[in-house]
Amino acid sequence: MSGLYIHIPFCKQACSYCDFYFVTRHQQKQNFVDELLREIRSKKDSRFTHEAVRTIYFGGGTPSLLSPQQVEDILQAIDETFEVALEEITLEMNPDDVSREYLAGLKSAGINRASMGVQSFDADLLDFMHRAHTSDEALRCLEILAVSDFEVFTTDLIYGNPKQSLDMLERDIDTLLQFNPPHISAYSLTVEPRTRLGKQVELGRIAPPEDDVVADHFDLVVEKLAEAGIQQYEVSNYAKPGSEAVHNSSYWSHENYLGLGPAAHSFWWDEDLETAHRWSNKPDLNHYLESGWTSPHDKEKLRLPTLAEERLMLGLRTAKGITLEELKQRYEFTFSPKQKAYLQQMEKQGKVETGERVRLTKQGLKIADAILLDLVTAA
Ligand code: SF4
Repeated sequence: MSGLYIHIPFCKQACSYCDFYFVTRHQQKQNFVDELLREIRSKKDSRFTHEAVRTIYFGGGTPSLLSPQQVEDILQAIDETFEVALEEITLEMNPDDVSREYLAGLKSAGINRASMGVQSFDADLLDFMHRAHTSDEALRCLEILAVSDFEVFTTDLIYGNPKQSLDMLERDIDTLLQFNPPHISAYSLTVEPRTRLGKQVELGRIAPPEDDVVADHFDLVVEKLAEAGIQQYEVSNYAKPGSEAVHNSSYWSHENYLGLGPAAHSFWWDEDLETAHRWSNKPDLNHYLESGWTSPHDKEKLRLPTLAEERLMLGLRTAKGITLEELKQRYEFTFSPKQKAYLQQMEKQGKVETGERVRLTKQGLKIADAILLDLVTAA
């Protein structure tokens, strides 16, 4: 089973913190869809069609800038090209694009999971992040979603914003919980160098939040969502039991996925399961429109030791962790004596649980990046 990721590279405006690939001119939108259909159809009878597609994820950029008809055309081309056994078809949307009619159109086009980029309900924070939507639009889109045919939806929430107090975050969480979301992705605002926020921090106009402030935000998110029955199942992802994201979970367990559209990344195992490849399309819409997708922008061959390290890092970011058996059978990997000693030390501190399965505890997930770095460099 595999997944498809489709990158829709259009946004209304640049959010201050974002370093994803997008353009703010939309004249080429239909040309882009036509080119995307060509890229999809080019995969017919290729090795990518040897296994059924289980998930499709429209990410971006802002996929909700596509019309329901354009989404339907894309899904139709996928259906004609791949063998499909679809469980989950997600489309990211921004609150200012959502109406009852739009959601109904997407549902009848085949989308069954809505991912709403709310980020915050606070007008000042939305303004600071240069989001295109207002606080009222964020509320209205969730009201519409609640009475729509979408039973499965997820909402993004940002914490660790330099302008955000703990009280502001609590208000955002309380507001979101009124809509009974089955799934939430909560991300700490990261300062990326090539963004407006990155420049402001570099010039000293904005101070990034202190680590212990971000840690308090993280604790509040974990605690409040757990009280509402929404459990952390990955460092940044929370769900009611049974509502975990299938597509993202397949990234973490190293399943094959194919990325389509500019800047989209792909990962595919070779048949011998000893090596895999990762490659991407160039993040350049004009290049893409000239059929630039026919040759990968960058390509990397991954061997088992690298794959083992990756799988370990991805697996330990999830609440269920990873089994020693999988590491041994699939990756021919066992922990070195130094790594075992490090894990024992972390276990004594209550940050790791070991046994047949290694997993980080709640305390461990809070500092997952530091633990994972120490673990792989202890080898
Ligand atoms: S809408 Fe999403 S992809 Fe577009 S600029 Fe904002 S954060 Fe980035």
